[in-house]
Amino acid sequence: MALYVYKFGGTSVGSVERIKSVAEKVKKAHDSGDQIVVVVSAMSGETNRLVALAKEMQTQPTEREMDVLLSTGEQVTISLLCMALHNLGCDASSYTGGQVKILTDSSHTKARIREIEDAKIHADLKDRKVVVVAGFQGVDEYGNITTLGRGGSDTTAVALAAALKADECQIYTDVDGVYTTDPRVEPKARRLDHITFEEMLEMASLGSKVLQIRSVEFAGKYNVALRVLSSFKEGCGTLITYKESQMESALISGIAFNRDEAKLTITGVPDLPGVAFKILSPVADANIEVDMIVQNIADDATTDFTFTVHRNDYQRAKTSLEKTCAELGARKVTGDDTIVKVSIVGVGMRSHAGIASTMFKTLAAEGINIRMISTSEIKISVVVDEKYLELAVRALHAAFKLDQGVES
Ligand code: ASP
Ligand code: MG
Repeated sequence: MALYVYKFGGTSVGSVERIKSVAEKVKKAHDSGDQIVVVVSAMSGETNRLVALAKEMQTQPTEREMDVLLSTGEQVTISLLCMALHNLGCDASSYTGGQVKILTDSSHTKARIREIEDAKIHADLKDRKVVVVAGFQGVDEYGNITTLGRGGSDTTAVALAAALKADECQIYTDVDGVYTTDPRVEPKARRLDHITFEEMLEMASLGSKVLQIRSVEFAGKYNVALRVLSSFKEGCGTLITYKESQMESALISGIAFNRDEAKLTITGVPDLPGVAFKILSPVADANIEVDMIVQNIADDATTDFTFTVHRNDYQRAKTSLEKTCAELGARKVTGDDTIVKVSIVGVGMRSHAGIASTMFKTLAAEGINIRMISTSEIKISVVVDEKYLELAVRALHAAFKLDQGVES
């Protein structure tokens, strides 16, 4: 007998029909003797609908009220799923985050889980019940409803799996696993049988939208075996674990990309201590997240400074930088919000030289100009013009033989 936490995303519970088929899947697993805890998202589109309603009411609703509103989506699906299970003669109870209780801090709309009470769930499981828990929500120490940030149901599922010491956390979604890259950009993309936590974390933070980043961090921290698989298609999906696969000795596991990038440059900055701080602190104060940062070697006692931000923050960042430019007596501010970031990811990079040069050679052969480069132990990212995104991804996918699967 094993204990599984299943998570079904918005599309998987997007209609009464789909909820019924989720119930059938759950019942089948439960009938085979396993203990099943199910975490569900709101029906697809529901959270966005609620966000839009709030925006209609008030330009800046308080985050506390946003949480009260947004948490309702998941409450609908937990009850409907239990009804569907009851129809099938399967005993099941639903719980909101607060009922469980999933205790979080008080950072509304992006709360972090502190502790999960597992007594009620264990008691239900012992009584051979299916337990259905609302994803994405919790309660703070004062009893306020909190939510975990968009896509947060993944994190609920992983956190529950960790707390309950589940054998596996299975995330059912509309794709059948983690792919070498987005199949909409490269149809030759391949599903990976395994990926390591580190790689998955890089993929998620570099733009792969399969799992919420925080859920991967959580799974890595508590060593929860995490599997991504399709709710619509049979298959074994992709298993995310610590183990590096011995079968697959690929150098690169995947290519991630992010279209929502913009870059800003301030030129002719005096090359003095404290300048990076003066440039970046007003940006941070404006709550703008900075990604890549490059500063050139000084020439004539001045230097250039470039960084990237989310495209939505481009105008605000530019305005802030123009102010700094005047204050510092720097030359000028330039920017470009038609850039993208393409990254190759793989733990194989650690033990192999020459990966970067293969990447740069491949892009050069396609005539793609690289605007910025950044590297870490297991990834190399480049910034290129957005018109080259598809070409870059496909060329790199072929160069690293990602379409060919297992290498010898
Ligand atoms: N319903 C929430 C959202 O759409 C949480 C989730 O689906 O994971 O972001
Ligand atoms: Mg999701």
